[in-house]
Amino acid sequence: MSRRFRDGRLVIASHNPGKVKEIAALLAPFGVAIVAAADLGLPEPEETGATFIANAELKARSAATLSGLPALADDSGLAVDALQGAPGIYSARWAGESRDFAAAMARVWDEVQKSGLAPGAKPTARFVAALALCWPDGECVSVTGTVEGGLVWPPRGGQGFGYDPMFVADGQAKTFGEMAPAEKTPLTHRAQAFAKLIEACFA
Ligand code: IMP
Repeated sequence: MSRRFRDGRLVIASHNPGKVKEIAALLAPFGVAIVAAADLGLPEPEETGATFIANAELKARSAATLSGLPALADDSGLAVDALQGAPGIYSARWAGESRDFAAAMARVWDEVQKSGLAPGAKPTARFVAALALCWPDGECVSVTGTVEGGLVWPPRGGQGFGYDPMFVADGQAKTFGEMAPAEKTPLTHRAQAFAKLIEACFA
């Protein structure tokens, strides 16, 4: 589905200032004026959805309803095949309140070892990003982007965030944690998702 964005102002339903800044830069060429959810005092709804899209839509819908403006939200994570897609929508939650991604990566690797994957087989995985753009009338345009790859152990590289140090995208030698942002960003699930959303709503 597609619907052109002709509304001028867009709420970014994220309380992460880094994300808001990045999205503002991506949409600047299309004359979109960005408003941060935090600046409007909007609450952060609980992520009770069962899929990346469901979580992105519930965040965008909530912000659109409360603000009366269209709103954009994302949800993303790492899906490991040997773990039937885990940690998936629970990727941030596996790191706990203290956001301990060294522990979250160790848990992923431990569970992969226990999963019965053949010795020497590559643990295949992908990063997934969902984006939902919802209008106050309830209509949403939602897209997903993915980057396929595999997991390595031990983790490598001190750049990036989250599970980056244990993920190698197909066709690459470095982990995402070993790449500078300019090298990683165009390869990502988020870049794919934004390309689709821009095509559907902004271009
Ligand atoms: P969100 O902010 O609720 O979408 O949480 C996504 C979680 O997935 C983050 O906390 C990271 O752990 C993980 N994640 C998503 N994208 C990436 C990425 O590009 N690199 C590493 N980890 C990621």
